[in-house]
Amino acid sequence: MRRKFIAGNWKMNGLKAQLGEVESIAGAASDNSGVDVALCVPFTLIAPAVAAAGSMPVGAQDVHAAQSGAHTGCISAAMLTETGAGLVIVGHSERRADQCESSGDAWAKALAARGAGLHVILCCGETEEERDAGQTEAVVAEQIAAIPGDAHGDWLTIAYEPRWAIGTGKTPTEDEIAATHGAIRAKLGELAGKEAADTIRILYGGSMNPANAAAILALSDVDGGLIGGASLTAEKFVPIIEAAA
Ligand code: 13P
Repeated sequence: MRRKFIAGNWKMNGLKAQLGEVESIAGAASDNSGVDVALCVPFTLIAPAVAAAGSMPVGAQDVHAAQSGAHTGCISAAMLTETGAGLVIVGHSERRADQCESSGDAWAKALAARGAGLHVILCCGETEEERDAGQTEAVVAEQIAAIPGDAHGDWLTIAYEPRWAIGTGKTPTEDEIAATHGAIRAKLGELAGKEAADTIRILYGGSMNPANAAAILALSDVDGGLIGGASLTAEKFVPIIEAAA
């Protein structure tokens, strides 16, 4: 059985003044040992967050695909592991939109991260126009199409995040979430076989909050959540962790 996985994405938020939130969230993570909890913070906060988080994994939100070299301002997977990071998000829709990252870029980053021993959360999700045009499953399938035949839940998690649901307070219906997660699970089976489809967790992300978490987490093929705004404070994030426990 897949354990539930609740990951926070702090995006470009968080200074050392917020380390108390990290400590409180880590406390809730250890109180709810039946669920995996992680927090992905800005690069600058990884080392202090690792120190504050105890056994709760801390992650990054991006990584460069190359191991080293002339890439001004970039961070390699080995640099992340050296700071104590245990995971990294790749292919987030904000990076696809703001930094023009392609699905190929996201996959190259995923492989670099895997090579350094990091767990990878690969994001996918459609725009509102794509949903209205009935293209959701095709778009998501393209975004995860590079998953290799040896993919496994030990190192890979998928996050389905409809772009139009991120930070908007809007979510798909429960039937729509379950249908898209089911389609992703089927695609995983096609790409990498039954073991991959059985072990890789599929998180839902997009305006998840304490009020809607329990219902979303109960849906078939939903193995957890990737949470933005509601992960910034223990007050909002801990009830989501508890809903998954
Ligand atoms: P919100 O939870 O703020 O909608 O963000 C979701 C997200 O993008 C997590 O990666």
